[in-house]
Amino acid sequence: MTFKELNLIDPILHALESEGYTIPTPIQQKAIPVLLERKDLLGCAQTGTGKTAAFAIPILQLLYQDKGLSKGPRQLKALILTPTRELAIQISESFGAYGRNCGLKHAVIFGGVNQSKQVEAIRGGLDILVATPGRLLDLMNQQLLSLQHINTFVLDEADRMLDMGFVHDVKRIITRLPQRRQSLFFSATMPPEIQKLANTILSNPVKVEV
Ligand code: AMP
Repeated sequence: MTFKELNLIDPILHALESEGYTIPTPIQQKAIPVLLERKDLLGCAQTGTGKTAAFAIPILQLLYQDKGLSKGPRQLKALILTPTRELAIQISESFGAYGRNCGLKHAVIFGGVNQSKQVEAIRGGLDILVATPGRLLDLMNQQLLSLQHINTFVLDEADRMLDMGFVHDVKRIITRLPQRRQSLFFSATMPPEIQKLANTILSNPVKVEV
């Protein structure tokens, strides 16, 4: 199977070509068609499987296509929550790489650093935000960030979120998301506690395991 056969648009196909990607990985083959149909997804996958591109590519494609239909100012439409600064930076770089021809804006926020540059990026207008939970809540509580226009939510590495004690923060963030949205939930393991959290976030998800 090729990326073209996954019905990807030219701006993204060209970006993937520049990245040197020729064949979609198994999780990409399974997840991309589901996500392009705007369905919820429960993904059981580890880092290293190509999981990031599996969610970033369809998010970019749908936002690019929606943007063609709407005028008006840029609104924050996609939120990706991930447990660590390193993962957040990696995911953000992936959006930059795969989305280089899409004209969408993304930023990354995480704790442990001064917030001013992050606030500046938010004020400049964004389509996609990659965040760790603590800093996201912090900026929301300061009224510097609103999630009211989010239509796509990704919870990445859910099991690590729990291990790191972020479950309370994650639950608080979820209560601030619009009810009508596409949700994606990724975890390397699916113990009952994780499954329960997934059930509160997803509606009729398609399950993908690699
Ligand atoms: P991830 O599981 O998202 O951390 O991705 C693991 C690595 O695989 C990253 O370095 C990606 O750049 C790379 N990668 C993702 N998808 C593909 C693909 N279809 N072909 C080649 N490399 C890929």
